Amino acid sequence: MKICLETIEEISRWLRATGKEAEELRRQAHETKLRTVGGKVYLRGLIEFSNICRKNCFYCGIRCGNAAVNRYTLSRQEVLSSARFACREGFGSVVIQAGERSDEAFVSEIEALVEAMMQESHGQLGITLSLGEQTPRTYARWKKAGALRYLLRIETSDAGLYAGLHPSDHSFHQRLSCISSLRELGYQVGSGIMIGLPGQSVEQVAADLLFFKAMDLDMVGMGPYIEHRQTPLWAQRHKVPSLQERYDLSLNAWAVLRLLMPDINIAASTAIGSISPKGRQEVLYTAANVIMPNLTPYTRRKEYFLYENKICLKESHEDSKANIERLILEAGGEPGYFEQGNSLHFFYKTQK
Ligand code: SF4
Repeated sequence: MKICLETIEEISRWLRATGKEAEELRRQAHETKLRTVGGKVYLRGLIEFSNICRKNCFYCGIRCGNAAVNRYTLSRQEVLSSARFACREGFGSVVIQAGERSDEAFVSEIEALVEAMMQESHGQLGITLSLGEQTPRTYARWKKAGALRYLLRIETSDAGLYAGLHPSDHSFHQRLSCISSLRELGYQVGSGIMIGLPGQSVEQVAADLLFFKAMDLDMVGMGPYIEHRQTPLWAQRHKVPSLQERYDLSLNAWAVLRLLMPDINIAASTAIGSISPKGRQEVLYTAANVIMPNLTPYTRRKEYFLYENKICLKESHEDSKANIERLILEAGGEPGYFEQGNSLHFFYKTQK
């Protein structure tokens, strides 16, 4: 069966696929994945550095307006200890993620952490940052320190929907401008969306997938929207599709994404695993070639609580590794130990 994915209408039709059609979509995505990026799944040890954030996104559990959050920032030793575990166990990469801050103390601490991880790993560790909107100068400092990739999720490519998810001083266009700066600086650039937001149509998700292609991204981290009760969006939970509908739509979206962008890196999000215990295996089978075992000290994990039912809150680093290895194997993949697993799309683009 030929799957055409050129227009919003064609993509929307496949996003709505059920039964045999959904199976066919996911089968073709799986074959495309094996043919392009192969069966390896690369590990990015996730270190949630700090839950302090200057922003107030309406969907996010660690927004600055949530007074119920116990705020923390990991010490340099805590971060380096997690990075050492990643190196020792053969994770080719780590992701440093945090709420958004742009003060000099934060910027220079990230710079020092990246330098220290590069030095200790003799440049072997691939470092991804996910630290929100920053100035081009800050992005350049972190790149010079050794960061390789940057993930800045747009959450939705629809400016109107974006405005409904954020306070008026959060700018959609600023976010686009940050993505452009990251690209100009030579990062492997990733973005992503939430699927099943209140008021979001299937056509808007289709447009998001075309947006990723138009932006020529090197990697995508997306997943289902899951509510958090201490956020303003909780009041709109009656407008959100059921968990099963969000699950099915997300899986179809991952499959379409792999068909649209065959050589990018795609992450299997933790959020899909919060809906179903088999969620991440299904995404790995269908489309994803990256997964992020949580290496945040587990005494802190419950404080990086972005949405309800977040999984992996109590695992030790060792359990985290064992569980991820098991689910990669269950999905028919092979863990890509001791490899950075850089985006092939980025490689091809920069070889031209
Ligand atoms: S989504 Fe990111 S920027 Fe927005 S409040 Fe949460 S951590 Fe801060």
